[in-house]
Amino acid sequence: MIDPYGRNITYLRLSVTELCDLRCRYCMPAEGVCKKRHEDMLTEDEMVGAVRAAARLGITKVRVTGGEPLVKPNILSICRRVSHVPGIRETVLTTNALRLKDMAVQLREAGVKRVNISLDTLNPDKYAYITRRGRLEDALEGIRAALSAGFEKVKINAVLIGGFNDGEVPALAELTRAWPVDVRFIELMPMPGSEEFGAEAYMPCSEVPKKLPEAVPEDKHDGVARLYRLPGALGSVGLISPLSSHFCAECNRIRLTADGHLKPCLHSAEEISIRGLDEDGVLEAMKKAIAMKPRQHGALSAKEKSFSAREMNRVGG
Ligand code: SAM
Ligand code: SF4
Repeated sequence: MIDPYGRNITYLRLSVTELCDLRCRYCMPAEGVCKKRHEDMLTEDEMVGAVRAAARLGITKVRVTGGEPLVKPNILSICRRVSHVPGIRETVLTTNALRLKDMAVQLREAGVKRVNISLDTLNPDKYAYITRRGRLEDALEGIRAALSAGFEKVKINAVLIGGFNDGEVPALAELTRAWPVDVRFIELMPMPGSEEFGAEAYMPCSEVPKKLPEAVPEDKHDGVARLYRLPGALGSVGLISPLSSHFCAECNRIRLTADGHLKPCLHSAEEISIRGLDEDGVLEAMKKAIAMKPRQHGALSAKEKSFSAREMNRVGG
């Protein structure tokens, strides 16, 4: 479906849970989330019904996310059913990789084509610090499992945080020479819950190429990422800059939260509930959400916070 600003909306981000086995400092409060009642969250059937409605409106790509999608006990069934919805050509997943060691092959068999893996540092102590509890080796093991499971693409997403991992840009980019992976640097976004980060943490992606003198800009884009490549690399390095350069003009997505709310824009407080609606009702709600997509979100910076009413784990990043 085309939105009021001429953008073709073809991409749904489906959050399957708010829960997570990590507590990344920019995403989630230390104490985790207050566990909601089962009946307040969408069921598997409701999620799949929403994807069917989305496909009828022209959505062709679904990213399964969260929270951490792999803590959801029925995640394989959700992925399998989503990937079989007529019209859905790509089912992809974003994960912290901690559980990929045991699940990568099954996810691939369930129809997941590609995975994005979050990894902000290659230092075990820093990993434990930023995730408040994770073990770097578990994430690396998950990445290795993904690489041998036959996904069409494995991407590594690193949130760029000044004063934390800016010194690791070369080491993280180097992963594109060590493994057949793409690495994406993403600017830290001032979401609710990420108040502990000061102005210096909001570092523009334009700093990345300065730290990679060998990197050659590529002509093509990958979605909203500007691409570079290190000589001899197996994958690209990409920059995603929600703060320093809006990519709203190319925004082709809507989001569905695990508790059944459509979000026309990540950085707006506007939400439309689909709770209790049948598939035709969801389709109408989606039309409304797409019609409500703003031309662009407001400025974002250390001082100008996102208007999202939710932390990232409760949105579906
Ligand atoms: N748990 C999964 C993971 O970490 O990949 C999926 C959900 S997580 C919310 C999705 C993505 O959002 C991750 O890559 C994470 O780094 C990113 N994210 C969370 N909070 C963010 C923030 N404040 N700014 C930028 N990216 C953020
Ligand atoms: Fe969990 Fe992902 Fe948020 Fe980290 S970024 S706390 S792994 S949902």
